Amino acid sequence: MTASADVVVIGGGIVGCATAYYLAKGGMKIVLCEKGVIAGEQSSRNWGFVRQQGRDPAEIPLMVAGNRLWQGLEAELGQDLEWRQGGNLSMARDEARLAQLEAWIEIARAHQIGTRIVTRRELADLVPGFTGPWPGGLYTASDGQAEPAKVAPAFASAAAKLGAQVLTGCAVHALDIAGGTVAGVRSENGPIAAKTVVVAAGAWSSRLLRGIGVDLPQLWLRATVARTNVLPALTGAGVWAPEVAFRQRRDGSFNIADGGGADFDLDVEALRHGPSFLPLYRANRGSVDVHVGLPFAADLAGRARGLPGTLRKIRTLDPAPSARRVGNAVAGLGKVAPGLGEIHVVRAWAGYIDMTPDYIPVLGAADGPTGLVLATGFSGHGFGMGPIAGRLTAELILTGRPTLDIGAFRLSRFHDGTRIAPRNVI
Ligand SMILES: Cc1cc2nc3c(=O)[nH]c(=O)nc-3n(C[C@H](O)[C@H](O)[C@H](O)COP(=O)(O)OP(=O)(O)OC[C@H]3O[C@@H](n4cnc5c(N)ncnc54)[C@H](O)[C@@H]3O)c2cc1C
Repeated sequence: MTASADVVVIGGGIVGCATAYYLAKGGMKIVLCEKGVIAGEQSSRNWGFVRQQGRDPAEIPLMVAGNRLWQGLEAELGQDLEWRQGGNLSMARDEARLAQLEAWIEIARAHQIGTRIVTRRELADLVPGFTGPWPGGLYTASDGQAEPAKVAPAFASAAAKLGAQVLTGCAVHALDIAGGTVAGVRSENGPIAAKTVVVAAGAWSSRLLRGIGVDLPQLWLRATVARTNVLPALTGAGVWAPEVAFRQRRDGSFNIADGGGADFDLDVEALRHGPSFLPLYRANRGSVDVHVGLPFAADLAGRARGLPGTLRKIRTLDPAPSARRVGNAVAGLGKVAPGLGEIHVVRAWAGYIDMTPDYIPVLGAADGPTGLVLATGFSGHGFGMGPIAGRLTAELILTGRPTLDIGAFRLSRFHDGTRIAPRNVI
């Protein structure tokens, strides 16, 4: 293992791998440390939506550029990512929700992404055989989808071809700081000296940063997904209806979830950061179930062991899917697309989403120590944003000035009196 690098990237999810790729392309000597396998956590467990629509206004310019980037990504990385620009559709449960979606179009208009409202009547043409009592929905034809399990590994192997060292099974236990400046990391395979360290550690970022006194408000939200049998072709759009969210994969199977519901397993972290998440919780109260039990005890035991002990024990976060949500999703898909025939679940899984209080990521240089760069907290929609987030992070390190303004994503917003509240509509 190389004992020094220009930049150490912590985390082999889509964000860390994309960052490593663009940095290596820029000529830097990179070591990427991943405690488990590439894309073992959120980046292979997500639905695969790549959407611009419904986002917080601050994210729209990034995602417009991100969408352009996705369109050339298979050629750039030389790999099939199952990219398809089939659109994204979000159905409204009632008129009030439709008005909320409609208001978002005004926000997006300046960016010319072509988002529009689809009425019930138009829906029959857009997705034949898709039916429900909805008054309408939000639709963006230029949105797309890709196969999550393929994308971070494609970035990692492209980075490796450019000379980056991609170390799997290599947890970073701590950051080394000397005189207010990053000096490197302590990995389980030994120290690596570097003047710049990127924390792209997904759900673990807050725990890792606490070791150097950097406070990142972040909580874990457990989201359940199921994969169906191969079914007749329905649509190339990613669809989010109140009953079920789904994406039909290239082989005809569906990734399905129960319309955006999630489970919150109370842990010790929640006691620390809980209050800053109250506005987000209030906005989503109906769709989140809170559980108190084993995860709390496990987190408590983990604290006694310390982060290195915990990371040795938990190589890859692999929470249990909710059987109830899987059942709801299957029933939901059958209800909204009755022509599909018999639906079976082939596989079900869950992933812990790394939430921030305002549902947007933390991107950019930390206020200290010098050399610490953050790319984390993608709050359940970082698959679509991963490539552009990686490119902007690399630009920041390579030139000191990313090509898009990332000021809204600074960590200090949580501590400088900025009003923190979610502004997304999806
Ligand atoms: C069920 C589900 C559905 C989703 N659906 C979508 C969707 O449709 N569209 C979308 O855009 N987004 C979606 N998301 C969100 C998306 O998956 C994430 O935002 C994105 O993958 C985050 O990527 P990441 O690289 O930041 O984090 P991760 O993929 O979690 O990667 C972080 C990596 O860091 C590693 N790591 C952590 N700590 C250390 C350490 N100390 N040392 C070494 N390695 C470490 C971890 O092992 C992990 O591999 C969904 C998420 C889930 C869970």
